[in-house]
Amino acid sequence: MTELKYRELGRTEIKTFPLGFGGIPIQRLSKEEAVKVIHRAIEGGLNFIDTARLYNDSEEKIGAALKSIDKRIYLATKTPAGTKEEALADVGESLKNLGVDKIDIYQLHNVDTEEKFEKRMSEGGALEGLKKAQEEGKIDYIGVTGHSTELLMKLVKTDEFDTVQLCYNFIEDECEEELIDYCHENNIGMIGMKPFAGGALDNAPVTLKYILRQDGVVPIPGIESVEEINENIEIAKGSWEYTDEEAEVMEKLKAELGENFCRRCNYCQPCPKDIPISMVIRAKSFITRMPKEAITDEEGWIYGGFEKAKKCIECEECIERCPYNLEIPELIKDNLEIMDEFRNN
Ligand code: SF4
Ligand code: SF4
Repeated sequence: MTELKYRELGRTEIKTFPLGFGGIPIQRLSKEEAVKVIHRAIEGGLNFIDTARLYNDSEEKIGAALKSIDKRIYLATKTPAGTKEEALADVGESLKNLGVDKIDIYQLHNVDTEEKFEKRMSEGGALEGLKKAQEEGKIDYIGVTGHSTELLMKLVKTDEFDTVQLCYNFIEDECEEELIDYCHENNIGMIGMKPFAGGALDNAPVTLKYILRQDGVVPIPGIESVEEINENIEIAKGSWEYTDEEAEVMEKLKAELGENFCRRCNYCQPCPKDIPISMVIRAKSFITRMPKEAITDEEGWIYGGFEKAKKCIECEECIERCPYNLEIPELIKDNLEIMDEFRNN
């Protein structure tokens, strides 16, 4: 057993257990099951939980679990709001759901297009709402999340954010080029989302050790069972060095996934049929992490995205733009089949 290295989240005063708790998958659990998993995580040492307004009842389940806990747990949540008023309303909802007077980190959620950047960062935008909430003592720190490393660089350079939530695993490692160094130099806390690449990676030791070894990034694996949390805690408390066998597995997985793996960078856009490509070519990620009702709701964004995908005209414009040369029209067809099968079962 190695000495446990707590992580400092940049300029915030937050010191976390090496792993945080990702609040997406508890949407799929009953309230009782979710509370049990969260309690086990806290007993095991975790002290940082991340969720979002968009994760259905995840905030409420976390609030329910925290009622009987007197240990200091740091909370982060997120708003998809565009405007100041919407962001302030979301902060109010989150406080109520989580059952606290103050939230440690409130993040702008998934700022992944220039349009979203402009709206949230300009006068009357969501950032202004979060600043107002901060002045009013409702939140401590402001963060941002996104999948585009390029846009995240632009966001952190505004110096408006105490933390950044970046997509990070050994397949999606673009943030190692510049973003991580910039955050270290400017004391911005780093929260690592999708350590398991949205379900594409399933070897926990190989996957988590890669991020744990990167100084300062706190990975927040989505957790939905006591077995998973126990395994993850063991890994965090053990040696983060790869065994020869693990190093081999990582190289093998890299080679296997490299050819078909979408990094969600969105360089393939715009699509003339408005297909949300990076979303529809990862059907399995939704199926394994989201509640079935959220996927099959005909009014929902997931259903709508897959319906749009049926209109692909195979123009291949996206392939030319994809830096990884993914065979996007083929991947769309495969994923539509997977989704159809899921909907019909
Ligand atoms: S091939 Fe399909 S997904 Fe790609 S740009 Fe054309 S219509 Fe859009
Ligand atoms: S298909 Fe290619 S360009 Fe589009 S998001 Fe995925 S990796 Fe990026």
